[in-house]
Amino acid sequence: MTDAIVIGLGADGSAAAAHLAGRGARVLGLEAFARGHTNGSSGGLTRVIRLAYYEHPDYVPLLKRAWQLWRDLEAATGEQLLKQTGGVYVGPRDGELVGGSLRSAREHGLEHELLDPAGLRARLPLFRFDADWWGLAEATAGYLLPDRCIAAHLALAERHEAELRFEERVLSWARDGGGVRVTTDRGTHRAAKLVIAAGAWNARLLPAIAPLLQVKRVPLFWFEPVAERDALATLPVYIVDSGLGHGCYGFPYLADQGLKIATHGAGTPADPDTVDREAHPDDELPIRAFIKDRLPVADGPVRMTKICMYTVTPDEHFIVDVDEPVAYASACSGHGFKFASVMGEVLADLALEGTTRHPIGFLSASRFAAARA
Ligand SMILES: Cc1cc2nc3c(=O)[nH]c(=O)nc-3n(C[C@H](O)[C@H](O)[C@H](O)COP(=O)(O)OP(=O)(O)OC[C@H]3O[C@@H](n4cnc5c(N)ncnc54)[C@H](O)[C@@H]3O)c2cc1C
Repeated sequence: MTDAIVIGLGADGSAAAAHLAGRGARVLGLEAFARGHTNGSSGGLTRVIRLAYYEHPDYVPLLKRAWQLWRDLEAATGEQLLKQTGGVYVGPRDGELVGGSLRSAREHGLEHELLDPAGLRARLPLFRFDADWWGLAEATAGYLLPDRCIAAHLALAERHEAELRFEERVLSWARDGGGVRVTTDRGTHRAAKLVIAAGAWNARLLPAIAPLLQVKRVPLFWFEPVAERDALATLPVYIVDSGLGHGCYGFPYLADQGLKIATHGAGTPADPDTVDREAHPDDELPIRAFIKDRLPVADGPVRMTKICMYTVTPDEHFIVDVDEPVAYASACSGHGFKFASVMGEVLADLALEGTTRHPIGFLSASRFAAARA
């Protein structure tokens, strides 16, 4: 009999399949779309990874392990997955971005540099920041190549004899004796354990947490700069407080893509099955406004667009939990890709042992019940 079924072979599910199979479990992975698809939350060619996490210091131990596991995955597959560029996070000295990043860096003894306004201007001379803005810079940051990361985890899972089935959509699952029964559009499968990592579709499979999950449509844009391509190619990854209730972030210029700049924390409610996958002129407005205001050399034509989906919780932190024999990871709230390597390890722990040594208590589903009590 199969030891574990993994539903969804995107960022978290591919990693969980690799970790489970690597520990000798007999794994069946089920994915609704074709191998290499980008219909979920992992499309868009690049994802920021950073350690001085402004969102919450409790993520830092997970991030350290995630960074190591991405490097291990590169070594195991011979693929380059993570490009280290350094990172700079910019805004008011005591604002969420700089203040929060500094708190994480100090609490966890992370190497970092606090840049005063003059230091910030010298570090990122192509940008126009408010005169009193500061920066927090760290060397251990960069970007991941999500398509290749998922492909590498799938290859590793298969090397350990996982069976991966694509274009097989899970319709439902049920407890069955001590294990589970999973019904797909092609048949029924049984296993001792179940991992659910269905991204934006998690609400369909996890009714207990469905009310906590909101899917959002998020557009991505790549621009061709009007000048300074060489200097833009050496940028670190960056996040800038836009002053609009969400930040803008970006990557170095890549000749084959252009300059990717995006808003974080924005997006409109959507259904993953009917989401509008075309980018429209209105989608571009907030990013174009940011460019004109803060990075005028980038104010050239759009080269590419992509629509992606965030799944967010009320507090914008993930939900990672176990209700034996079912482990699940959900609602990576627009910042989850960088964690996928460690989430694979966590999900394998939760599925096989019912617990994990990783500090994920702050991500439990029960925190919302506790907050309501
Ligand atoms: C525009 C954008 C920018 C982002 N930027 C960053 C960033 O810079 N850094 C960062 O760390 N994170 C970032 N994120 C967040 C990150 O990409 C997501 O948290 C992560 O990709 C989510 O991974 P996942 O495994 O949950 O979902 P996915 O990778 O989407 O995987 C879910 C999989 O489940 C499959 N599935 C669903 N239902 C079923 C079913 N019934 N049967 C079988 N299979 C099913 C889907 O087809 C899909 O393949 C960004 C997200 C977006 C949208």
